[in-house]
Amino acid sequence: MRRYPGHVSARRLLARLREVELITRPQHPDLVAALARRWAELPAHVKTDRQMLGRRTVGCEGTHGVFPRCNLACTPCYHSREANRVRIDGAHTVREIDEQMALLRERRGPGQNAQLIGGEVTLLAPDDHAAALEAMRRHGRKPMSMSHGDFDYDYLEALALDPDTGRARFSQLSFAGHFDSMMYGRRGIKRARSEAELNPYRERFCAMFNRLEREHGVRAYLAHNMTVTPRNIDEVPAVIRDCREMGFRMFSFQPAAFVGNRARWKDDYREFSTDEVWARVEQGAGARLHFRALQIGDERCNRTAYGGYVGGRYVPLLHEDDDGDRAFLNDFITAFGGMDFDAPAAVLGTRLARGLARHPAALPGAVGWARRLIRRAGGPRAVLRSSPQALTFVMHAFMDARDVRPAWEALQRGERSDDPRIRATQERLQACSYAMAHPESGTLVPACAQHSVLDPEENLRLTELLPLTVQDAPDSAAAPGLPPPRPAPELGSER
Ligand code: SF4
Repeated sequence: MRRYPGHVSARRLLARLREVELITRPQHPDLVAALARRWAELPAHVKTDRQMLGRRTVGCEGTHGVFPRCNLACTPCYHSREANRVRIDGAHTVREIDEQMALLRERRGPGQNAQLIGGEVTLLAPDDHAAALEAMRRHGRKPMSMSHGDFDYDYLEALALDPDTGRARFSQLSFAGHFDSMMYGRRGIKRARSEAELNPYRERFCAMFNRLEREHGVRAYLAHNMTVTPRNIDEVPAVIRDCREMGFRMFSFQPAAFVGNRARWKDDYREFSTDEVWARVEQGAGARLHFRALQIGDERCNRTAYGGYVGGRYVPLLHEDDDGDRAFLNDFITAFGGMDFDAPAAVLGTRLARGLARHPAALPGAVGWARRLIRRAGGPRAVLRSSPQALTFVMHAFMDARDVRPAWEALQRGERSDDPRIRATQERLQACSYAMAHPESGTLVPACAQHSVLDPEENLRLTELLPLTVQDAPDSAAAPGLPPPRPAPELGSER
């Protein structure tokens, strides 16, 4: 058939219109399908009207087996004892991440938060680190790099800037800095005797990102991660109070679990309950935190409280006892579902309009919610007087390997345990909000199962694939302006 130019451009126009129609939908159809699948899979006990899994998000994601090595030591450390016998290899990292993210995109749709995690991310050369982030974005993930924060501005700058043009290759970077006194080997403070001694290092971490924004316009979202053990639980409130204004947008606490390298298990991590950790978090926040306003997965695993400070007053985004807030949350989900609000203004505006057209009750609901929020913040004058600071508090309680292994293996056989402890572990695994991808088998597994069951074997395989060689230092250490490499600590040598 003969084709006319007008024919071709009409087809192009149609394709472009279809594309515009798709990106301005509140939710991508692949996400709609993934949310429906996740909801259908969830166990009954978490299917409440406050549950966000399967309605707003399919959950968090993380990488594994891509750079298991670390040059600090933690007690506990969730990585298996072989992790430090694996060479850092940028090509391996990027290739594996690409495959893991492709599976996550296929099974979970676009727009989900994914952590670049598995060892110390800054042992990757800056260009490899950047390539890993780009691969994650290419597959529709929102990456966050998980680091111990003991790196220099030169590294951060090399990560953020394109080496060919010197211009920023990212408009924003997300980092989680892990700081606590259970870590050993940080430059300048090999072993911190208290959490307070680490505050200058926390401040330095935030200052590097401030400088990056000042000098290159690259914004940052920073989270603070802290493992909680009997040794530092009472210091949690002071960490929050001392560091609240440093620039972190999230404080995340992980009660220690018996996972990973046994040589690094110290103390009785079950000496306190997660309620006791949360009480310390509330003490530090100076307010009740409304984690039951919404739930992500199982409450025994996760607590999340969204809110912020207006002046010195903490204001929850949603009040868990307020029926109006509860109704608004459900209207919001009905209108927008898993909608990604991080979009150019015109796209966002159209998505909002289409979501509201689908469920107009969300509009008066939003007005009522905004009024209540401003009232809780002390009124419009209080809001205008101070610049509100958003801050999220999170607690994530990993489970012990001795429970996860039998629970996971029984689930694989399609069995429910009669042992109440193992049964509870199975319930949590089924409601898991933190998945890792296995492209070789096409499966997604909970991070607890990854660390407790799969990591040891995976790292053993990696020691053969990527054995340490004479040149076992990270490539990044050879880059000009960076500090000399530190050897990874001997296993079990800390504390
Ligand atoms: S099952 Fe484990 S990894 Fe999953 S949400 Fe619960 S604690 Fe986290």
